[in-house]
Amino acid sequence: MAQFVEIKAANPDCLLFYRMGDFYEMFFEDAEVASRALGIVLTKRGKYLGKDVPLCGVPVIRADEYLHRLIALGHRVAVCEQLEDPAEARKRGAKSVVRRDVIRLVTPGTLTEDTLLDAGRNNYLLAVARARSSSAGEDTRFALAWIDISTGEFRVTECDRASLSAEIARLEPGEIIVSDVLFSEADLAGYWRSLPAVTPLGRDVFDSATAERRLASFFAVATSEAFGALTRLELTAAAACVTYVERTQIGKRPPLSPPLRESAGASMAIDQATRANLELMRTLAGDRRGSLLDAIDRTVTAAGSRMMAQRLSAPLIDPAQIAKRLDAVASFVGNIAARAETRSRLQAAPDLARALSRLAVERGGPRDLAAIRDGVLAAAELARAVASLKEPPAEISAAMQACRKPDGMLAAELSAALAAELPAFKRDGGFVREGYDATLDETRALRDESRRVVAALQARYAEDTGIRILKIKHNNVLGYFVEVTAQYGERLMAAPFTGTFIHRQTLAGQIRFTTTELGELESKIASAAERALGLELEIFERLTARVVAESANIKECAEALARLDVASALAQLATERTYARPHVDDSHRFVIEGGRHPVVEQALSRDGAPFVANDCDLSPPQDTDAGRIWLITGPNMAGKSTFLRQNALIAILAQMGSFVPAKQAHIGIVDRLFSRVGAADDLARGRSTFMVEMVETAAILNQAGERALVILDEIGRGTATFDGLSIAWATVEHLHEVNRCRALFATHFHELTVLAGRLGRLYNATVRVKEWQGEVVFLHEVVAGAADRSYGIQVAKLAGLPASVIDRAKLVLAKLEQEDRAAPKGFEDLPLFAVPSGPAQRIEQPSEDLLAAALAALNPDDLSPREAMEALYRLKEQAAKKT
Ligand code: ADP
Ligand code: MG
Repeated sequence: MAQFVEIKAANPDCLLFYRMGDFYEMFFEDAEVASRALGIVLTKRGKYLGKDVPLCGVPVIRADEYLHRLIALGHRVAVCEQLEDPAEARKRGAKSVVRRDVIRLVTPGTLTEDTLLDAGRNNYLLAVARARSSSAGEDTRFALAWIDISTGEFRVTECDRASLSAEIARLEPGEIIVSDVLFSEADLAGYWRSLPAVTPLGRDVFDSATAERRLASFFAVATSEAFGALTRLELTAAAACVTYVERTQIGKRPPLSPPLRESAGASMAIDQATRANLELMRTLAGDRRGSLLDAIDRTVTAAGSRMMAQRLSAPLIDPAQIAKRLDAVASFVGNIAARAETRSRLQAAPDLARALSRLAVERGGPRDLAAIRDGVLAAAELARAVASLKEPPAEISAAMQACRKPDGMLAAELSAALAAELPAFKRDGGFVREGYDATLDETRALRDESRRVVAALQARYAEDTGIRILKIKHNNVLGYFVEVTAQYGERLMAAPFTGTFIHRQTLAGQIRFTTTELGELESKIASAAERALGLELEIFERLTARVVAESANIKECAEALARLDVASALAQLATERTYARPHVDDSHRFVIEGGRHPVVEQALSRDGAPFVANDCDLSPPQDTDAGRIWLITGPNMAGKSTFLRQNALIAILAQMGSFVPAKQAHIGIVDRLFSRVGAADDLARGRSTFMVEMVETAAILNQAGERALVILDEIGRGTATFDGLSIAWATVEHLHEVNRCRALFATHFHELTVLAGRLGRLYNATVRVKEWQGEVVFLHEVVAGAADRSYGIQVAKLAGLPASVIDRAKLVLAKLEQEDRAAPKGFEDLPLFAVPSGPAQRIEQPSEDLLAAALAALNPDDLSPREAMEALYRLKEQAAKKT
């Protein structure tokens, strides 16, 4: 117990998996927590300091499964192993304790096992460092460093406070580490707690003074010049990552690539709300099915699937880079044979990067060696297959070269060494091919020969004793033993056999004996088997070392395979679903001809229903440089939301380097994408829906620049009609006059359509419906113009509201419409939207205006003395709020 307490004290924030024989045991609070989390039995074992010790355990062979569940629940686990054979401990004295120590901390961001990881997703560990702001008012800088220890990727970047959460949303890290100071920062504390798995760490991990040294020592280089032009802040975050890896992996070194700087703003900025809203990686309900990724991912390897997800979450903003990716896709679109062969070869390529990582951190098995062999061989053959592409574009020829990089002798050596059938663990032995190593073959022969001797011995004993059913068996307690049924037991215990057969055990139906001969054979076999396994493990180490020495080339090759997978998969998608190559450039244009929604289209086609393609043109009108805003009106269910989203998704697809679901597309780079839906429920974060809608709209109006694409879907729905209308109205004006961005604005406020008369770049569009025998028919066709009315009642009828309610609603509507016409329209008299000028534009000054408005609303002549008093108090209160 003393040993346990000591080790536990060194790892207070982890559950301690304490190895005892075939089990990992947990004690005290750990046991209580784990038994609850895993639904396993909690028992007691002895007493410690006078109290019962709670205990629960999991079998070692099923440990991965339990680890997986604990990690998913946000726990961290310290794995404590026996570092010597219990027999060895006994040699030191009967009471001595087996040496044990923690060999690894298992945390969500540092996993390497296939059983713990999602094959098709990266699992990032992210470190966030912040610069102490040097002067007030200056924007605080953050550095992000992230690694995937299961693949070796290592990246860093810097960002400001405003884009911090968008960057984190893009990476979706499995675990985030921050300094405890940053963790408890008032401004950020709530944010950290809203994320899964944020680990606060001591200041030393984020110490900028030692950062360079720690990085250099991890990569075993003399100076950090090797890390190029990383800023001090980036070095700090990167060093935090490697320090954390060292602390959790305890002496093992995953094959990390040196940190690579990702320049800030190299990809389209997409904030968390927009990602969620456009259902890029998963649907709003959290399912992968139904997301954009799910609809477009045709990759055949896990590494390809990871790269596809990465590209989708970070569309590029450099037309030249995008064109390179599109070239690669195009060449696979144009050559069906090369595409088919590439994809079938890729299918035979295992996950090189993850197998390599496991081997490097000594968690690899024989199957990982085989994966390296198969991957390297598949890559070499793939390079040959791709060579049939005429004039391969740059991306592909680079990939071909990388595919040929790993040493061919390595694969040959692995092929020669590895047996046809491989066990899951190296400790099981039997993975080295016969004929590979002479000494091993000899030892194995000895072991097997002895086994034959046992068989012969059984036959002789049966003959000598005349007991035909006599058997020689083996178990861990007795080793080899002779077993006969009870009726023959007597015979062996009497002369002349009693000298040969030594009685060991009497069971219900059987009696067991040993003999001197068996005992001798036993130790011969055991030592031969042990020696054979020892030799195999030596061979394993040697092969692993060869693989690790080749890791740089293997990693490059793995990346190349992923690139080829993505390019050929996108080509496959483009062919299957007739996507077109988009034209992407530096202009402000946005022309989609015959665009479709990639996800809705596939869902409809499964039901055999057609999708109605629609055009969209947000390009700047002649002689202007800012893009258009489309205001889309139309009844519920007409297809407004679908149209809005499809255009945003087409922009994302184009800039990630994919063909797009359209006849033609010309897109001037979108540097920021925003998408908001009115009245989205966000009860989880405890904010009112309207508040969320307004917070998000504020973010857009404050951030969107001329290159942004903004999608606003029914903003202003979450409050009273006039409030909502006024806000929508002012928002459209602001987008047009201040943001000057390309935008699509769907609304049920038909009143907004009059704005087209005043705002030069606003264009009215509507989704056509037909009325036929009192029913609405949705045509899903987007055309110029404004909707004439809402058809709300017709839609309600379709939904099955009782006829009496429908009839009554029609009456009420008729009455309301009459009164509306009688009342003055009002909107024509509204003053023009004024663009605030100068730097003061973001500072709000509502209270002064409110005060003035409140004063103007008072008519002193109409007030009683008491009312006047009250008004005075109210005004004072309002004035106080202002300061
Ligand atoms: P709105 O936002 O106008 O209420 P939605 O965009 O939610 O309408 O569309 C309602 C339904 O109409 C969708 O679920 C989809 O099945 C169908 N739909 C929308 N657009 C199209 C289209 N272009 N072609 C075929 N069906 C469509
Ligand atoms: Mg809608």
